[in-house]
Order: sequence, then C-alpha cells, then structure tokens
Amino acid sequence: MSKKIFIDFKRCIGCRACEVACEMEHGEARIRVFEFPDLTTIPFNCRHCEKAPCLEVCPTGALYRDQDGAVAFDPLKCIGCLMCAVACPFGVPKIDEVNKIMDKCDLCSERRAEGKLPACVSSCPTEALKFGEINELLWDREGSFVSRLKEARERGEKEPIYLL
Ligand code: SF4
Ligand code: SF4
Repeated sequence: MSKKIFIDFKRCIGCRACEVACEMEHGEARIRVFEFPDLTTIPFNCRHCEKAPCLEVCPTGALYRDQDGAVAFDPLKCIGCLMCAVACPFGVPKIDEVNKIMDKCDLCSERRAEGKLPACVSSCPTEALKFGEINELLWDREGSFVSRLKEARERGEKEPIYLL
C-alpha cells in the first residue's frame, strides 16, 4: 500500500504554512489551500492516484511510481507535451514556464530520501496533514477519530471529513 498525505479538513485553519513551506522547498507551491468563505479551507495536493491517468498517458516515462507509491517525475525525460495535465482530473500538473517542462508534487522525494516528512506536512501547525500508509494512519487514529466523531455528533456539529 502506498503512502499519501492524509488531509483532515476540520483541522485546517487556512494559515497557508503548507503553501509557504512547499514554495521554499520547490520554488513554487505545489499544494494549494482553497478558501470557501464562512465555510472551510481545503488544502489540496496531487492525490498520487493508485491508477494514475497522468502516468498512463506520459509518452516518455517522465512520470513514474516511486518506492513509496508517489507519482514522481524525471525532469530530464519530460518533453513538455502536457498530456499529463490534460489527463489529470484535478488539474494538478503545471507547466514550469522557465524550463517548459511539467511540475507537480512528488511528495518531496529528496526529503523522503533523507528520512524527512514532506515539507507541507512538517510545517502544518495543526496536524491537518499527515503522511503515511493509510491503513496505519487509520489504525493510529482510530481512537481519536471515533471519540471525535462521537463528540461532534453530541455537539450537533458536522462530522470530521477526511480525504485519502
Ligand atoms: S497528477 Fe493528477 S492524475 Fe496524476 S497522480 Fe496526481 S492527482 Fe492523480
Ligand atoms: S498548514 Fe495546515 S492548517 Fe495551515 S493551511 Fe496548510 S493544511 Fe491548513
């Protein structure tokens, strides 16, 4: 099972620390925080889909699945055709206007190689972002998830929502 960034919308306070950390790491933010005034804020990055359309259409093999299951890319193989951008249902791949090649979240490959967490996850002050294998995270969080769900229901609040 691959590792992903697990997003707990209810914990997000919209501070954009994740965007700033990503920009510092990569020169441009690959995670975006979408604001819905008076409702919520939603941080969103590449979903590293299990069956990734971007990866399937890439004609040069510039996109590939790495050892943690991330959809990573090799800039030296990218020819800037943007087929991945057309195929992605979330509009994630963006053109790097300077180098005319694609740019997308790779879950911070270099940081992971050093045993570090992705920059956005490290910087989030509320732990709205978690990185790991989803079943492990769910098991780790089961207690707090169940109790939070119960408390939210008792208070008549909306229930926690997670994006896998
Ligand atoms: S770029 Fe789009 S299609 Fe490719 S893995 Fe990310 S979310 Fe999925
Ligand atoms: S750093 Fe965390 S709390 Fe701040 S905007 Fe990003 S996800 Fe939300």
